Amino acid sequence: MTEFDEMGFTPGILRAIRDLGFEQPMPVQEKVIPMMLNEERDIIALAQTGTGKTAAFGLPLVLSTDSMSNAVQALVLCPTRELCLQITGDLHSYAKHTGNLKILAVYGGSSIENQIRELKKGVHIIVATPGRLIDLIGRKVVRLQNVRTVILDEADEMLNMGFIDSINEILEEVPEGRRTLLFSATMSPEISSIARKYMDNPAEILIGTKNSSAENVSHYYYLVHAKDKYKVLKRISDFEPDIYAIIFCRTRRETQEIASKLISDGYNADALHGDLSQAQRDAVMLKFRQKNLQMLVATDVAARGLDVDDLTHVINFSLPDDTEVYTHRSGRTGRAGKRGISISLVHLKEKNNLHKIERMLKKPFKSLPVPTGSEICRKQLFNWVEKLENVTTYHQEIENFLPEIKLKLEKLDREELLRRVVSLEFDRFLDDYRTGDENIEVFTDKEFSFDRPERKPSWQKSQGNYKRLFINLGKSDGFYPEQLIELVNSNTRGKKIPIGRIELLRNFSFFEVEANSADKLIGALNNSMFMKTRVAVEIAQEKNSSPHRSDPSGRKKAKAPDRRNGKRRSKVSY
Ligand code: AMP
Repeated sequence: MTEFDEMGFTPGILRAIRDLGFEQPMPVQEKVIPMMLNEERDIIALAQTGTGKTAAFGLPLVLSTDSMSNAVQALVLCPTRELCLQITGDLHSYAKHTGNLKILAVYGGSSIENQIRELKKGVHIIVATPGRLIDLIGRKVVRLQNVRTVILDEADEMLNMGFIDSINEILEEVPEGRRTLLFSATMSPEISSIARKYMDNPAEILIGTKNSSAENVSHYYYLVHAKDKYKVLKRISDFEPDIYAIIFCRTRRETQEIASKLISDGYNADALHGDLSQAQRDAVMLKFRQKNLQMLVATDVAARGLDVDDLTHVINFSLPDDTEVYTHRSGRTGRAGKRGISISLVHLKEKNNLHKIERMLKKPFKSLPVPTGSEICRKQLFNWVEKLENVTTYHQEIENFLPEIKLKLEKLDREELLRRVVSLEFDRFLDDYRTGDENIEVFTDKEFSFDRPERKPSWQKSQGNYKRLFINLGKSDGFYPEQLIELVNSNTRGKKIPIGRIELLRNFSFFEVEANSADKLIGALNNSMFMKTRVAVEIAQEKNSSPHRSDPSGRKKAKAPDRRNGKRRSKVSY
């Protein structure tokens, strides 16, 4: 194994590495650093966050930047403001003992004037989010003609966030002879196309397996009814008194709901989602980073910029549709050589999704039994007993009060004293779990076997007293069961209309409604608005009968094919 001090770094950089406590280069560093320092080639590195990739490009960048020159020599592009600040902080720490290297973070959502002022003073390395950099280029305050190295960090995330045009535009601005490094967790056709267009015969470095989550993450799941998910989440956190976790939800609303419930149930939790202001998000992230918060309930998008190393768990309150999103989520635990745990709360309808993720990761998921009330009480109790055993008492004030306390409690023997202290501490758990066990319906693995023959899709026919309706809204509109129910409620003036099965597709959906209410509901919903879309609802056609040939709303996007089971189906086949 190559050591840092054999790599050709200056004493100043080696000192910074020691200050950071890095003893050995991590695999991505072993591969990327020598290539950056000794060869001229472009590099594509497929590496997840947490593998040490910032130092892999950052240390050589600091070494090769000339602080005597006044020009911008390196550009690091990354998807979010948080990552931008983090990379900048890391680069500053690598350059701590290296002269006067000027590194500037430029990102959206904060004063552009301050950034312009700093740029004018002269900068050697710019770390930027693409949108803000384009803005600054447009104002002619950034000059990139002396850039020798461009780093695209988390390139897949940048593309997911729609930065492709900005990236293309920026790459057109930097000189052709520069070197380009691209870091990405996954290799997609879009990444290959950027590589073909802007990179010159790049060396491809693979850290871990392509498209797989970190090796040291174990994947578990709990089989539960959707209605029991929250109870199970509480049990998981009660069973892990020192939990430090991100809980991923699907929508902003679900995120807020779960966080609010946890808070009102006395847990140390908070929400992170896009409905919060930037200042609120910053405050929550800071609390979480400083570990003043144990559980962060978040959407994928909002959690993107948050980078913490020592999460004990990632919890998928809802499984993502996209398997790559699962990889990103679970890759947030098990970092920097530690073991990580990714837990999914899976209900029956999600089993295929879980199976798909399992296949993609090529790792089996282990089913866990939901901890029982008595297991939880035992775990909490002994965790507390251990703390009691190890607590150091150093306050003089306590000594002063002791004689009086002793006198007051003198009638209680040791056992009674213990009983009372424990009861004070544990009443919540004991009350919660005294009768709790029968409230959660527990599945066995067999009942949930992936090999179980598929039931006939329940939505193909309206069941019993229900009618099946078509609606021109789907997941791509941010339309999920909560939104459907809210839409129905808000257009029926509080009159409760029973909804049956819901089948959400990408661009449109089907749902069942009590037959008697169907016509009324169609009348109420038609022409109402969901976000900026005019809603269109009608009775769904049965399979093979005369189909709707066109989306009733006339929206173009309804023409998009639905790809289920790898087959292209037209929407009219439903
Ligand atoms: P990154 O993938 O760049 O976000 O790095 C993940 C974590 O690994 C960060 O907290 C780094 O400080 C840490 N790290 C990076 N390189 C090393 C190393 N050689 N030894 C120990 N920790 C490291």
